[in-house]
Order: sequence, then structure tokens, then C-alpha cells
Amino acid sequence: MTEGQISPWLPEQDRIRLAILGKLIEECNELAARAARCIIHGLDEVDPDSGRTNFMELGREIADVDACIGVATTELSIPVSTQRMLDKTAGFERWHGMIREAADA
Ligand SMILES: [Mg+2]
Repeated sequence: MTEGQISPWLPEQDRIRLAILGKLIEECNELAARAARCIIHGLDEVDPDSGRTNFMELGREIADVDACIGVATTELSIPVSTQRMLDKTAGFERWHGMIREAADA
């Protein structure tokens, strides 16, 4: 294929795959919006629409995404690397340690 050539991709057609992926996208976006609100308004601020704190709403959205991930990985047989998750978690721990050290300096 030469540079600039458009490849003939055919969008996903399977209705179940589309439903699973669409819901995953929707819930990920709801989680992202809540995480942003937690940063902007604070974790302890109360959402006027629900009467729950942003902290509680964040937990609800994490549960929604976690459920979607479970459905997606099971129904679509998506291989999820445990080693990748462990490496990512270790990276976060190192990063948070660096932030704590910088804050203490
Ligand atoms: Mg949700």
C-alpha cells in the first residue's frame, strides 16, 4: 500500500459486538466525566442531581465500567494480560512514590 492510500475497512457488523463495544464506550465516557468532575469540584462535593458525593458517583461509574469489561472480555473472548496489569500497577506505584517524594522535597 502506498502512502496516502485509503484502506478498505469494513465497519463491524455484528449487533452483539456493536452493543457490547458501544456500551463499553458509553460507560468509559461516563467514568471519565465523573473523574473530571472529581478533579474540578472535589471528591467530597455533592452532585445536585443525585444527592450523592462525587466519591460515591465515581464508585458507581467504576462498577459500571468493570461490569462492561467483564462482559466484553467474556463475550468477545478478549485476551487480557495479567502481566500487563501487574506491570501497569507497578508503574503507578512507582509514579505515586515519585510524586510523594517531590511533594516532601
Ligand atoms: Mg454509568
